[in-house]
Amino acid sequence: MEFEGKSAIITGGSIGIGATIAVELARQGANVAINYRKHDTEAKEVAKKIEKFGKTCLIIKADVTNYSHAEGMFKKVIEEFGGLDILVCNAGINIDRVIWKMSENDWDNVINVNLKGYFIYNKLAASYFKDKRSGKIVNITSINGLRGKFGQCNYSASKGGIISLTKALAKELGKFNVNVNAVAPGMVMTEMAKNIPTEFLQKAVDETVLGRIASTEDVANVVLFLCGEKSRHITGEVIKVDGGQYI
Ligand code: NDP
Repeated sequence: MEFEGKSAIITGGSIGIGATIAVELARQGANVAINYRKHDTEAKEVAKKIEKFGKTCLIIKADVTNYSHAEGMFKKVIEEFGGLDILVCNAGINIDRVIWKMSENDWDNVINVNLKGYFIYNKLAASYFKDKRSGKIVNITSINGLRGKFGQCNYSASKGGIISLTKALAKELGKFNVNVNAVAPGMVMTEMAKNIPTEFLQKAVDETVLGRIASTEDVANVVLFLCGEKSRHITGEVIKVDGGQYI
């Protein structure tokens, strides 16, 4: 199995895309640690699925915007798993409204979780991977960070920021044999997409050239590729998983 003996942190692993990435990494042999804020029962379900593969899942209630929570999580993972090989930064939120209806809080909350949260986890992983001279970082962004989306000035700005963070960090970590990449999904049917009005969902399907919305597995497959050795010569890259929604 490709990830036997490896260990991974996935932020926002209780539900949605993060939960699928965690389960799929474990299916391929990794021990995984997930964090989340709200979905306790769902996080335990993810752990149960992972334990069925004979792998360990640490579930940690940690807000990604909290630096000391993150430090605690890295310490625990490194102690319990004997090291860290993979970071997948995935935890994200959206608070959608046109900018003239967007409050300062709407802006701050989205930027804090989606951008500061990525900074904290990328920084801690970078410090560790740099000394170890190996490691994989995959940041989940969005096609809306590339194109900007109506009603998502805060979210689009945060996701664009993640792309720039990814490229800059790839340059800083290249000489330490660490790959840093981003995956940019189009619409994926998760809890995040549940609040989207039906007409916008249909619009998203119509925008794709494949005529469908991605499953969480469609995204996880590409993330796993970037976490593995077959992608060893790819860094600073943004791979869209969007059924052609962006083109
Ligand atoms: P979900 O809402 O289904 O899941 C989000 C995850 O992030 C949950 O596990 C949630 O945990 C966690 N999370 C949110 N805020 C925090 C926080 N402050 N601290 C720790 N964990 C947190 O979203 P998706 O699975 O749809 O999205 C995953 C990623 O993919 C996000 O970055 C999103 O922007 C991106 N994306 C999603 C798309 C989509 O169409 N769904 C399209 C493009 C990109 P809990 O709720 O338990 O607190």
